[in-house]
Amino acid sequence: MTILSIPRRGFMLCLSSPSGAGKTSICSRVLDLDPQTTLSVSVTTRPMRPGEVDGEDYFFVSSDKYKEMVANGDLLEHATVFNHGYGTPKDFVFDSLSMGKDVLFDIDWQGTQQLSQLARTDLVSIFILPPTTQVLEQRLRTRAQDPEEVIQLRMSEANQEISHWAEYDYVIVNNSLEHSVAQARSIITAERLRRTRQIGLTHFVNGLRGIE
Ligand code: 5GP
Repeated sequence: MTILSIPRRGFMLCLSSPSGAGKTSICSRVLDLDPQTTLSVSVTTRPMRPGEVDGEDYFFVSSDKYKEMVANGDLLEHATVFNHGYGTPKDFVFDSLSMGKDVLFDIDWQGTQQLSQLARTDLVSIFILPPTTQVLEQRLRTRAQDPEEVIQLRMSEANQEISHWAEYDYVIVNNSLEHSVAQARSIITAERLRRTRQIGLTHFVNGLRGIE
């Protein structure tokens, strides 16, 4: 059976959570499993962690370069998180959406609010919660790439990040990676079926009804 494909508009999918709740793992599984999704790679002024790859995890830029990108309007949204600048390069997002891709964003609540102000109807947001505070702290420690003072800062910031949960369209409690990935994929499937995103529907229905 051939699968019928009706042209649709891509959307922006923001995933936010306190550090260590597992959103990066959820994002990368969804990207592996779903070829219609692509990741928006942010710029950041924070130092690279061991194992990170420039251009894959982030574009690591100097403070001056970051300021220049902000001043030039090259970033769709930007925010200071843990004393470092983070932002979303604009052109990649617009190019991907126009190719019908759904763009995933691993960004914080400040960035999600900015995208929501720019394009509410093209934005879907998911907040990822950890099952317990202990699990959150344990995940931050197991990652073991940040110094102790950074872990403590992130634990205290987690509380503040979590306070924004109610601004999101969907909430997933990440108790099991595979289950959370399946839930995120269900949200993506449902959002793709929204009538307003299926821009080819009028043409299709007119064909069904024999209208030119
Ligand atoms: P990390 O330094 O652990 O990779 O990320 C720290 C926080 O910054 C995470 O909550 C992450 O989602 C957020 N973040 C990463 N990229 C961006 C971005 O481009 N914009 C915003 N607003 N937040 C970002």
